[in-house]
Amino acid sequence: MFGGLRERLQAARARIGSSIQAAAAPQKEPGDVPDLPAQSPASSVTFADKVKTFVIDRELIITDSELAGALSDLEIMLLESDVALPVTDAIIGNVKRDLVGSHRRIGQSVDGLVVTTLREALLDVLGTGFDLSEYIRSHERPVKILFTGVNGTGKTTTIAKVGAFLKKQGFSVVIGAGDTYRAGAMEQINVHAERIGIRIIQHQQGADPSAVLFDAVKYAVSHKIDVVLADTAGRFHTKANLMNQLGKIRRVMNPDLIVYVDEAVAGNDAIVRAAEFDKTVGADAVILTKADMDSRGGAAISIAHTIGKPLMFLGTGQAYDDIIPFSPSAMVEELLGDG
Ligand code: GDP
Repeated sequence: MFGGLRERLQAARARIGSSIQAAAAPQKEPGDVPDLPAQSPASSVTFADKVKTFVIDRELIITDSELAGALSDLEIMLLESDVALPVTDAIIGNVKRDLVGSHRRIGQSVDGLVVTTLREALLDVLGTGFDLSEYIRSHERPVKILFTGVNGTGKTTTIAKVGAFLKKQGFSVVIGAGDTYRAGAMEQINVHAERIGIRIIQHQQGADPSAVLFDAVKYAVSHKIDVVLADTAGRFHTKANLMNQLGKIRRVMNPDLIVYVDEAVAGNDAIVRAAEFDKTVGADAVILTKADMDSRGGAAISIAHTIGKPLMFLGTGQAYDDIIPFSPSAMVEELLGDG
């Protein structure tokens, strides 16, 4: 995952480092480690090489012009990786703010400085993440989670994946089949629940979703189940109908969390849909599916930043364990780590 973005960020890291080294070159003193040859953006200097380069016995102030070329390369690399322009601007702005005018400390490696700066810049745009296990541990049970989102984005599969994930964490789970609108959806969630060994509460097709989810919560309370995962239809005849239905579900089951599910590959559409959804229904967290199909790697970052809601999980494939809790720090380590 994030292969393209990772590769480009690694190149950017080397490129910014080279710029700083080039700026330091005229002041070289005997005994300094020799400069490495200037790098093109696409070149792959190993980090071991870079880390060897230290500034010795000197403090250096980094200027805007020394970084201009490298930052412009970084900008192109981010855009090529599908990182949206406002997010790219934010990242570049952060890097610039932290590097320009900064005093490089004596003995501090160029690469260390660049990595620290890039890490901070990325963490700043990625937001906080949402630790579901921790949330469940610290809340009254059953924790009721309502899943919403447009059909076809992977909502049903995601509910099954989250169920399997929570089961592995030792929580007991029940699924409420609140998507009574489509026969296919009801059948599908049943198959998922059976495969992962989770009890499902289901009524007949066309039943009132609120009634199904009410029953699911009742079942959870009487059986001391930790978590209710509530499915809902992503689509009705009209938007007003959907919103009315969701309003009723909210009143009846009183969810602790509303999770919006969309696909990483939807890019800007996902951002627009999530904003609209948040405005009308509200969302506490977001799950992005199909991150495995986001080959260039920037879409998830862009959506996470733009939606302004914590990302809870990334879906990374079609199997039940293809889901990873979204951790901004782990993602940044993956992007910037030495692999
Ligand atoms: P729903 O209509 O939103 O409930 O969507 P489904 O759960 O039926 O999923 C639609 C399709 O997306 C199915 O073929 C899933 O296997 C697939 N899918 C779901 N999540 C992921 C994911 O993270 N990665 C990939 N590659 N496919 C996924």
